This record gives sequence, structure tokens and C-alpha cells, in this order.
Amino acid sequence: MKIEVLSPHGFCGGVARAIKMAQEALAAHGREGNGAATVYCLHEIVHSEQVVQELTAKGMCFVESVEEVPKGAVLLISAHGAPPAVSDAAVARGLRVIDATCPFVTENHQTIRANFAKGMRTIVVGDPDHAEVRGYLGEPGACLPEDVKPNEPVGRVVQTTLDAAAQEGVCTATRDRQQAVRDFVASSCGASVGVLVVGGAKSANTARLAEIAENGGAKAWRVSSAEEVSRLDFGALDVLGVTSGASTPESLFQAVLRSL
Ligand code: SF4
Repeated sequence: MKIEVLSPHGFCGGVARAIKMAQEALAAHGREGNGAATVYCLHEIVHSEQVVQELTAKGMCFVESVEEVPKGAVLLISAHGAPPAVSDAAVARGLRVIDATCPFVTENHQTIRANFAKGMRTIVVGDPDHAEVRGYLGEPGACLPEDVKPNEPVGRVVQTTLDAAAQEGVCTATRDRQQAVRDFVASSCGASVGVLVVGGAKSANTARLAEIAENGGAKAWRVSSAEEVSRLDFGALDVLGVTSGASTPESLFQAVLRSL
């Protein structure tokens, strides 16, 4: 079986930026002699178990609500962003907020607010349980598609990690990684191809890459660790394309390649 590394794969600009901000926050405000964590992150900074484990080992504390953060501590907003009420609650609690929201996500928040200022609501297309979408839905005038009244003029924003072939408004990093999978599967010329996607179990863009491979007629597998590779049965595959989600560290990707 031939193995082909698909490109681009792995960290997008928004994830790399958020992790850098997390590391800088730890360097500036991390454990100060008494062992107590002083940098908190609301939700997983990005959906990668490895990244979260590494930052936890360096002293970052991951929480699910602002109320869990002690007064005066530093709160990092994850790359997925948060509803405006979170920033308001953090400021009211006296927290120092560092916003690592991806600029693509911030742009969508601004679009919803601009539409609201013009008196228009904005449909949010995406998974309502995903942190990014929950953040949008907290903006004034944001709503789910099913809440729109007949003939109501509305704006529209899309979760950045949906399938770019089906939705406009998906971010360029997602689009490029998906296109690499599509091109690989389309160029198989009758060979038996499969795609292995490396990435966190909760990562939406990782799930999408596997879906796109399957929709193109290839077999697809997902792994979040190098150990999982030994349990996979690739059968009589001619070529295996290997890619990774936008929040997957290159070190994990390389470990999976070594396992293969
Ligand atoms: S996948 Fe796109 S929107 Fe999400 S963090 Fe990366 S660049 Fe930003």
C-alpha cells in the first residue's frame, strides 16, 4: 500500500495563533510560585486532546464557565470564540480577558452585529451544539434557520468548518484542506483509495474531512493517536492518503505516519 501525505493538512492560522497566545499568556501570567494556576481557558482552546494536555501540563486550567474562574485571574477565550455575554461576565468579575478567537470567527460576529444595527436578523448555519455556533447565537439578532419568518429579509453566517462544497462562508483553511482530500480521491483513476484523518475526536473540521472522503467514494478512518493505527484494517488498499484536521499538531501527524 502506497502512502501519500495530503497537503495542506494540520494547523491553520487561527489555531496556530490561539496556541501561541495561550503559551504567551502562560509565560506572562502562569503559575506564580504558589502552584496555583492563574491562566484559565474557557472550553478547549482548540479541539485537540494533545494540545489541551500540553497546556494543562504547563499550568493552564480549562473551565466550562466564567464562574469557575477566580476573581482577578486571566481568562483566555478559545479560537472558537464566545457569546458577548461571556466577555461581559468576565469583565464584571474583574478578570483579565485575552481573546484568542480566530479572526474568521470574529468577522462573523461583526457581520451579525452590523446586520442587527441595520434592523436585520442573521441566520446561523451550523451545529448549534458547537462552541463556535453557540457564540454566534449569543449575538443580538442571531437565529437558527428554522426561526426565520416567511419573507423575512435575513443575513447569514456559516460555521467555519462546514463542507465548503455545500456552503459559502467556510474559512479558507477549511476549504483548502477539504479540497486536498477531494483532489486526492478524484485522482484515484480506479485504484482502491482510502483516507486516514488524524485529529481530535471533537474536531468538527476533522470529521468533515472524513465525510468528504467517504462521499467521494473512498474509505475513511479517523484516529486521534498513533496507537490507534495498529487497530485499523486497511484491507487491500492501493493508496492511503493521510491528512489531519486544522487543530492537529504536526508531531502527532508524524507519529501516525511512523506507525503506518
Ligand atoms: S479552521 Fe478556519 S475558522 Fe477555524 S480556527 Fe482555523 S482558520 Fe480559524
